[in-house]
Amino acid sequence: MNVAALALWTVLGVVGGPRPKLVVVITVDQLRPDYLDRYRRQLIGGLGMLLRDGAVFTDAYQDHAITETAPGHATVLSGRWPTHTGIIRNSAGVQDSTAALLEVKGPGASPVRFKGSAFFDWLRAAEPGARALSVSRKDRAAILPIGRAKEQVYWYVGGRFTTSRYYADTLPAWVRAFNAQRVPAREAGAVWSLLLPAEEYPEPDSESYENGGSDFTFPHRLTSDTARAVDSLVDLPTMDSLTLAFALAGVRSLGLGGGGRGATDLLAVGLSTTDAIGHRFGPDSREIHDQVLRVDRYLGWFLGQLSVRYGPSGFLVVLTADHGVTPFPEYSRTHGHPEARRVDLDSVVDTANAAVDARVGGSTAWMRLESGMLLLPQWSALVAAGLNVDSVRTSLAAAFRAVPGVARVDRPDALLRADTAADPIARRWSHVLAPGDDVALVVTLKPYSLWAPPMVGTSHGQPSDIDTHVPLIFWGKGVRAGVHARRVAIVDVAPTLASLLDVAPADSVDGRPLTEVIAPSH
Ligand SMILES: [Zn+2]
Repeated sequence: MNVAALALWTVLGVVGGPRPKLVVVITVDQLRPDYLDRYRRQLIGGLGMLLRDGAVFTDAYQDHAITETAPGHATVLSGRWPTHTGIIRNSAGVQDSTAALLEVKGPGASPVRFKGSAFFDWLRAAEPGARALSVSRKDRAAILPIGRAKEQVYWYVGGRFTTSRYYADTLPAWVRAFNAQRVPAREAGAVWSLLLPAEEYPEPDSESYENGGSDFTFPHRLTSDTARAVDSLVDLPTMDSLTLAFALAGVRSLGLGGGGRGATDLLAVGLSTTDAIGHRFGPDSREIHDQVLRVDRYLGWFLGQLSVRYGPSGFLVVLTADHGVTPFPEYSRTHGHPEARRVDLDSVVDTANAAVDARVGGSTAWMRLESGMLLLPQWSALVAAGLNVDSVRTSLAAAFRAVPGVARVDRPDALLRADTAADPIARRWSHVLAPGDDVALVVTLKPYSLWAPPMVGTSHGQPSDIDTHVPLIFWGKGVRAGVHARRVAIVDVAPTLASLLDVAPADSVDGRPLTEVIAPSH
């Protein structure tokens, strides 16, 4: 074979081409790594296969504060901390009123706040023919993994998958055809019962603090009212199955990873129901146990379909999560953490606002608490009005510290100077804060405590190990299997993929390639 022919064959991936046809990045919303240990014996589907044959990192972290969905998804394929992606919390995530949705009513969304590049941009710079499909139930989970690229990006609103005008002016035929099957409406009245016999679940099924005190035992039934069912479906395992079916329809219609072009394509899938069930029933519930078993089975089917399409060594998979979750305080208080509680600082902030009003005049929300950050957007106006803002801040910090459940209150400038190796909380806050922010203070709760409101359900968002620890598995083409116990971060994912695909990050990244993943022949 002459050199030109060999080069052609290499491009076509016939002679040991190093590139997979498709990179598949699966982000399971709120998936805690201990679920994979607890249910391991029962994971006989996709999760089981990834754990058995993949490169598994058991000590991986979304190593930032404000462990919410938007910052976690922005981190996965950018290789950068939230302070560098610009996506530090949900409430300033993908909302964009100028990017209307197609064919449905709902909030417009786009990645306009996302700064810099992401893995797909690096891939396409090396391979101009590369394409991406990103799919999730949630807009932020579909949009943020691929950065600002105007690719095929779809999420679920009111019974249909859609996109926004940032990406397209019309929905393609395959999306319309999928929506026309009306699967969500046909699910009205469906019953969620246990996948396995009840004795396979050690968790009690009758905790009255779950799900706001109603419908907290199996079986759970989706309303038979079709109009409401298409919205309530997002709380059931079936939503993840539907998301994967939609992703596969896209793979087929777009011909992703299609032979001959030589380019590697990207498929990002966000599975959101684990988060919905975790918020309502908690990480220790029978419901979350059943949900994880179902994700395992759905992924078994999905990865099997990809294997038929690309061959078992034709694609590469990454599985991770955007954040963990804190148990219900009601559970924690009877399981070794009697101090666990819901913490509400709103009355402290209201009192402080009233005190400033009394000094400066008027009636203004000078400061507000958001995601644990005390925001003071009119700082300079208050200084100009003669107020000693620093003493206001100092007295508020003291008032916050006096509230049970508060672990620490820090000034951002002090955190940005802290020894971040010795102080993980300071490190995680430093990964979301930036000099010049209007953040006056940040508040960290004690582990096992939560922000309130809401007064029902449980949540995530803290810089604790409970909320930051996530699974991380690489599997497939070019990956060396193994279990790795060293501490790594999710910002390492994009640099690792770049190394596996021999592409260069276009920006400076915060993560490093996990070289133990890369097979020696690569
Ligand atoms: Zn959540």
